Amino acid sequence: MEGCIFCGIINKNIPARIVHEDDEVLAFEDINAKAPVHILIIPKEHIGSLNDLPKDREPLLGQILARARAIAAERGIAKSGYRIVLNTGPDSGQEVFHIHVHLFGGRRMTWPPG
Ligand code: AMP
Ligand code: ZN
Repeated sequence: MEGCIFCGIINKNIPARIVHEDDEVLAFEDINAKAPVHILIIPKEHIGSLNDLPKDREPLLGQILARARAIAAERGIAKSGYRIVLNTGPDSGQEVFHIHVHLFGGRRMTWPPG
């Protein structure tokens, strides 16, 4: 989608440190990492947020979570633990309106989130 940063990364118009790519999903390093491991996992299809996910695209969430798990294992944080975040809407602090899952790990997380 025109003007979408993450679509720009998918189209390779905007550089990113890509860690995984397949036909439907892309994963790349967050530009402003908040943990030793901070990776974003997104669908290649432009979907603004979880609220905009069509029913017939719900299986994408499974693919994205499975990819997050695989990357966590690759980065050696499967056992130590990690956090998955999917910000949705203004109160969550969502800044980029192309649905994305954050994978955080490599340090102890606090709870509750701020
Ligand atoms: P959210 O607040 O959930 O919308 O998170 C958006 C995330 O995208 C933030 O953690 C940003 O640091 C990250 N981000 C924004 N632009 C880029 C970019 N060009 N490459 C990688 N990550 C980005
Ligand atoms: Zn997009």
